[in-house]
This record gives sequence, C-alpha cells and structure tokens, in this order.
Amino acid sequence: QNSTCGATTASAVFSSTHPGALRVLLIGKGGCEHALTWKLSQSPLVSHVYVVPGNGGTASSMDKVSNITDLPVDDIPDLVARAQELDIGLVVPGPANAVVSGMADHFEEAGIAWFGPVQEVAIIEGSKAWAKAFMKRHDIPTACYSTFGPGYVEYFKATRFLEYLFDNKVNSVIKISDFAPRRRVFFPTDLVEASAVAGKIMLASPYGENGKEIIVEERLEGEEISLLTFSDGVTRRTLPAVQAPKMNSDGDEWRSARAMGGWAPASAATEEVMEDIEEKILKPTFDGFKAEGKTFAGVLLTRIMLTEEGPKVLGYNIRFGDPETQSLLLLLSADTDLMDVLLACVQTRLDEVSIRTIDGYVCNVVVAARGYPGEYDTDKPVSFTARPEGALIFHAGTQLADDEIKTTGGRVVGVAATGETLEAATKNAYAGVRSISFEGMNYRKDIGAE
Ligand code: AMP
Repeated sequence: QNSTCGATTASAVFSSTHPGALRVLLIGKGGCEHALTWKLSQSPLVSHVYVVPGNGGTASSMDKVSNITDLPVDDIPDLVARAQELDIGLVVPGPANAVVSGMADHFEEAGIAWFGPVQEVAIIEGSKAWAKAFMKRHDIPTACYSTFGPGYVEYFKATRFLEYLFDNKVNSVIKISDFAPRRRVFFPTDLVEASAVAGKIMLASPYGENGKEIIVEERLEGEEISLLTFSDGVTRRTLPAVQAPKMNSDGDEWRSARAMGGWAPASAATEEVMEDIEEKILKPTFDGFKAEGKTFAGVLLTRIMLTEEGPKVLGYNIRFGDPETQSLLLLLSADTDLMDVLLACVQTRLDEVSIRTIDGYVCNVVVAARGYPGEYDTDKPVSFTARPEGALIFHAGTQLADDEIKTTGGRVVGVAATGETLEAATKNAYAGVRSISFEGMNYRKDIGAE
C-alpha cells in the first residue's frame, strides 16, 4: 500500500507535526487553488499555505497565505528542495499535470506527504484511452467510442468512423487521449470540421509524439453533473453533486467553452439518480481500482451525463475540479475542516472524519476575458466594488503587480455565492459578478436558470 499512497511516510511526517503548525504547499494558479487556499487557511491545523505560483487572489488579503513566484512549477527537484526548506507537512496539487507527471513520488521519496494519487493511478486522467478501457473492463456505463493511434492509416480509419457517425446522424466528440497542454475535447459540427480536427491532432501533432492518439465518441445528451469523492483507499465520501449548465443554452459563443459555472446541490441529482450512480459508477470505479491492485488515495472528480438510458461517465479527473470546487467548498459547513479531510485521506482514517454541508444552495459563475475560449485579451486592470454578502470571488487568471490586479488568463475570476434557495444563490452570484469590472468581461447569463 505504501508504494501507491504513501500512507506510512505520511504518518511519520504528521506524528512529528504539532497541531496548528502544519505548513501546506499548494501547487497551481487557478480558481480552484484560490478556493482551496481560502478554505485550508481557515483550518486550525494549518499555520501557513504557500501557493506556487498562485495568482492575484492568493497574493492578496488572506492571512496565513503567501505566493512563491520564483520557482518554475515543473522544476521538481527545486520544488522538493524548497518544500524541505519550508518544512512543508503536506503538498496539495491543483492542476492535473502535477499529479499525472508523477511529482508525488519525488515528494514522498523526500519524506514529504502528498495529497492525491500517485502516477500509476493518475493514469485515469492522464490517458483518456486508459480510462475508457478501465470503464469497459469494469462495466461502467460511458459513451460508445473507438480509439485511433498515430499515423496515416489510423487517421483514415478515424475519418471513416466519423463518416459513419455523421451518416447515421450521431453527433461526435473528439478527445486527445494523452495529457495535452490546453484543450483536449472538441465538438465538431460537421464531417469537414471533424476530419480537420482529427487530422490536426494525428498528423500535424501539435502536442508531440504522445499527443497523437484520439478517441472518437458519441456525443451524449442530458443533464451534466460532477461528483467529488474523497478516498483513503478504504473509505470513500462523496460530496453533493454539482450541476453544469447545458451546452449552447446561451447561444453559440460558448459552444466550445466548458465549465463556465454550476450549482449545487444539483437539481438533477435526485436520491434515485444518486443510488443509480453509486451502484453503476462509483462502486465499480473504486472496486475496479482495488481489483487492479491500485490504491486510490485522494480526490476523484467524476463527470457524468444523465442520459435517457441512465448515468454515463464523461470523464474522470484525479484532482479538485474547476469550477466545481468553488461551489463545493462554500457548501461545506464552517465546522468542516477540509485540512483534516485531506490528512485523513493520506492517513487512511477517512471513516473518523465528518464532512457536513450547509442547508441551502451554492451557485458559481465564471467570468472570462474577451475572446475566451479562443485567443483572449490579457493585461486588463480589474476593479472590484463592494462585494454583496454571501458571495466570494475566486481569482483564476489574474496577477497582482504594482498593487493592481490585472488579467493574465482566459478564465479570469469565478464568483461563488450561497443562498437559502437556488434562486437566491443565483441572484447573489450574479450580484457578485456585477461587483467586478474589466474591459471585455464576459460570462454566461443563464447559470442556475434551468
Ligand atoms: P472530459 O475531459 O472527457 O471529462 O470532458 C470535458 C467536458 O466535455 C465534459 O465535462 C462534458 O461537458 C464534455 N463532454 C465530454 N465527453 C462528452 C460526450 N461524450 N458527450 C457530450 N459531452 C461531452
């Protein structure tokens, strides 16, 4: 077990850590990392959260938080050395590449505990082809698909398959199997576009040798929900479902932009639906890891489409997802110590920890830069007026320079707000959005309205 989740190393580290003296190293710079920093820094167990490299939000106005901006995030030996210098007790990775690249093994070799699965388990996000084959092996419902490897012969096979789907009026999704720097999922509208997308990935190989394998799958229709499940390898706990707004409901401009907001608890995740998901998806997924000799310790995000034929898995992430995490952390009750939950996952004692949620709802709206999800503006000053009560602003693509917050990314900030009803939460979230302004700001207007 130690080789897959590092539990022994972790207990050694924590037994020498005084309560309230835990120093955390959080890797990442997105909205999810800002939200995690906000929640973790409230923990009585934590003395300081260092964020590498962090963003404008983690750089300002939070006690016990500082950014580390002088280290490249992919320089593993330097990161490990800095963590040793800072006497870090736990490393929490935000972005998938930190987990997929196998950083965990380097920190654990240095005796520093890591929250999240090691590389051989992270493959479920690192390779979408592996994830599809895993679902097939364990009879987990997902979209019908076919994978195509590199080379011209495979490319011709892929175009023939796409032709067959379009002839039969089946909409398709094209996915890059391996971990690609930015976009991995494409939604072509016709055969010409689909063949061009496949050709660009498989023949022009903009993502290098490993980025040539694709998956062509049927496009599923229905309500989309995400589930965040904590696991220590033995016990697991799933938070309430977050619902994503439907594609296209705000016009074509957002056709290829995913994850522009959401709300929780998901209206579509009734008790009956959740029981179905437990039986058909969550249980076989975690049992599947065990059956294959893998210990999943960390957090698994499962994105699911609720189709007419029942729930089907869209994909797995082995980390806190964005923007789901922004909603879910607000849904946790004030007395739920997220730090303790993360430690419990590493120390195999999740059964001892209570995770409580508030009564009510959370709504989250992502505010993007002009041009996103295509080429987008950067370097625009952002101003904030008094934020309405109940709303929190999590920075995603910003930096603090000369006392000014400026945009650096396409997803600039996320606003998350609570309310007694979904309507109230939605109203509060949009009031929060209106308290922000920067040139060219853009966001979906229909989150929570369905
Ligand atoms: P993935 O990275 O595979 O989890 O997919 C990212 C997003 O693309 C999902 O959250 C869905 O919104 C969308 N998506 C992926 N696969 C499909 C599919 N087969 N049908 C419809 N939407 C999909």
